[in-house]
Formats: sequence, C-alpha cells, structure tokens
Amino acid sequence: MNRISTTAAIIGGGLIGCASALFLRRMGIETLIIERGNCGACASGVNFGGVRRQGRARAQLPLAMRAHEIWSELPAWIGTDGEYMRSGHLKLARSLSDLQALADYRDRVSDFDLGLQILEGAAFRRRYPEFGPGVIGGSLCPEDGQANPRLVAPAFARAAQSLGARLLAHTRIMEAAPRAGGFALRTEQGTCIHADFVVNAAGAWGHDIARLFDEDLPQTPGYPTMAVTEPLPCLLGVSLGVEGGGFYARQVERGNVVMGGGFGESVDHDLRARPGRAPMQRIAEQAGEILPALRHAHLIRFWSGVEGYTPDKQPYLGPSTKHSGLIHAFGFSGAGFQISPAAGEAVAQLLAHGSAPLLDAAFSPGRHTTAATNAKS
Ligand SMILES: Cc1cc2nc3c(=O)[nH]c(=O)nc-3n(C[C@H](O)[C@H](O)[C@H](O)COP(=O)(O)OP(=O)(O)OC[C@H]3O[C@@H](n4cnc5c(N)ncnc54)[C@H](O)[C@@H]3O)c2cc1C
Repeated sequence: MNRISTTAAIIGGGLIGCASALFLRRMGIETLIIERGNCGACASGVNFGGVRRQGRARAQLPLAMRAHEIWSELPAWIGTDGEYMRSGHLKLARSLSDLQALADYRDRVSDFDLGLQILEGAAFRRRYPEFGPGVIGGSLCPEDGQANPRLVAPAFARAAQSLGARLLAHTRIMEAAPRAGGFALRTEQGTCIHADFVVNAAGAWGHDIARLFDEDLPQTPGYPTMAVTEPLPCLLGVSLGVEGGGFYARQVERGNVVMGGGFGESVDHDLRARPGRAPMQRIAEQAGEILPALRHAHLIRFWSGVEGYTPDKQPYLGPSTKHSGLIHAFGFSGAGFQISPAAGEAVAQLLAHGSAPLLDAAFSPGRHTTAATNAKS
C-alpha cells in the first residue's frame, strides 16, 4: 500500500484548492493537492467568467477587494492574464423598483471603493444605445470585468505546481479521519495520506467530504445554464447582469457573446450537469429583448456545471468547529470565480497563522449548527 505524508493536503483541485496551494507554497508549506479528475475541470473551468464585486453581500467585499488587486496582477501570480479585462460590470434595471434596489445597494456599500454609478433616462440611452426598450437604466461598476475560466483555473494549478505543490490527479478521496497530530485520508486506489492539516476545497461535493469528518454542512447542488453565440461584430463592451438575476452576458474579444441564466439538471448523480431546455429557450428570448442585435444570432453551444449553494449563499470558509487543523473552503454559491484568489490566500493565512484578517463570521462553517442550537435554547 502506498503511503504519503504531507503538511497540508488539499482535497479538490478547483480554483479554491489551487489558489490555496499557490499561497501555501509561497509561505514554504509542504502541500499536496488531491483531485478526482483534472484540475479546473469542474465549476472553476466551465463558469461564465464574470469577475465582479458589484452585487456581493457586504461580508464578501473585503475579500472581493483583495481579489480585485490580485486579478490586476495575474500574470505575475500565474503566468497568464487569463484574458482578464476590466470591461466594467453593468447591472440593468427594467423597472423603477429595480433602479431603487440598485441605488440602495450603492448606498449600503458606499464605504467600499466600488465607484458605482447609477445611470438612467436619456443619459443611459445615449451611453448604451444597444439595449432594448424594456431596459430603463443600470448600475455600472467601471472596474469590474471578465476573464476566461478555461485559462485561469488550470493556470493556478500549474503555478502552484511550479512552486513545488505536489498533485495527485485522477485520485478520489474516499475516507478521512482525524489521527493523532493530524488526519488520515484514503484514496480510491488505496493510497494512505497522512496530513497535519486538511483543506476541504471539494466545491459542490464539499459537504460529502465534511460528512467524512462527521460534520453536517448543508449545501445544495445547482447547475447554471450557459450559452454562447457565433462570433459577432462588437456589440457589448461591458459584462452584463440584470437586477433580480436570471440573465447575464459578456462579449469576448473574438466576438462570441457568452450568456447565462436559469438552471439545468444533474447527470451521473451530480458528477456532471447539462443545460435545461426551458432555460435555453429563456436565455435566447431574454437575449433578444435586452440586446436586440442578438435576435438573429446563432447559438452554437450550451453547457452547464455543478455548483454548491449554501442556505444563506455565503461560503463555508474557515476552520472546522470539530477538528483542529481541518479548514473548509467550499459553497461559493455561484460567485466563487472572482473571489477565489483571495479565498486561497485566506486559507493559507488560516493554516499558517490561525487567523485571516479578511474572513467574516458570516463564513463560519459552524454558523448553521450554532443558529440551530440557539433556536432550541
Ligand atoms: C456554470 C457556472 C457559471 C458560474 N459563473 C460564475 C461567474 O460568472 N462568476 C463567479 O464569480 N462565479 C461563477 N460560478 C461559480 C464559480 O465557478 C465557483 O464558485 C468556483 O469555481 C468554485 O470553485 P471550487 O474550487 O470551490 O469548486 P470546483 O471548481 O468545483 O472544484 C472542486 C474540485 O473538487 C474535486 N473533488 C470533489 N470531490 C472530490 C474527492 N472526493 N476527492 C478529490 N477531489 C474531489 C472536483 O473534482 C473539483 O475539481 C459559476 C459556476 C458555474 C457552475
């Protein structure tokens, strides 16, 4: 039987696991990533590519602001810019109450340097003539943007490896248990891994890993539906969302418009996902309503991915309340792409120093248990 020892074992080679590995290696901590398939092949590599702070809950903004800095220095961290562009993120309003909600959000987060601008009426139309008559305004975050997840996610894995992180790809963790002075993990192939620390970065499967440690961290899988058009002339300069959700779009430099909205369905018991028929139709309809130039565009591909959603849409990002040395980092609820570099840095700080300055109590893995206990007493 194979035996491996390491200081830090990271379960899951998505962006969260690989960013954690990168920061751990920069601190000189021995690190092993264990990934069931290929690094970045799940949510981290198939997502929409929105790199936005606008719309996030306040608790996430300190991490999102730190991530914003890291994104701007991406080539220095991972050797590629990942097609990252600060195109701006425009959240559209289709009613007066949407506009009010956008203005309320701007006021609630005014102590963060997001530079949100509410645009409406003639000024909005002059600046954005491309939108249909149902769109009456929007909130622009000029420095938010977009990137190509297919480039970014594997690049984090390569960067961590080039700094000395070891990778066991195509290796699934089947069993885990605390042992004196650390943890014992067993892979599907029978390899035993002893680690002083374990990071649970298993994404939509993070609750399964938590259960191996006898922890119940509720999470539900969801399968965002994505679509892309043929290459088109330039028609959309910003990354787009709508107040209330349900549709988002961005145009890449090659001309394709990437869009998303609604949820698909599970395949192979949540190992994979496929886009749903109704959301596919709804994306096409909304695209034509919001951006009339897309009415006759050909949609050349649809896809989906598996993402883990927590009950309050905040990640589990912090130390286990049961086992010292176990850190949970999953449940990013549809918004983990932008924040992942800072989440990885926070994981490394927690592991090395026992605390991470940008982590909020709202991310505590014990919050649901504590709330249930308080409700009973
Ligand atoms: C279609 C889609 C669109 C999205 N759009 C955006 C967006 O525009 N902006 C944004 O900020 N976020 C977006 N997200 C969310 C974002 O992609 C995720 O929050 C983020 O990638 C989560 O990263 P992760 O590393 O936690 O998970 P993952 O990338 O899923 O990685 C988890 C890894 O753990 C591995 N694993 C699981 N179980 C085991 C095991 N037992 N042993 C070993 N390995 C295991 C898996 O194989 C997987 O590779 C989107 C998500 C999806 C699915």
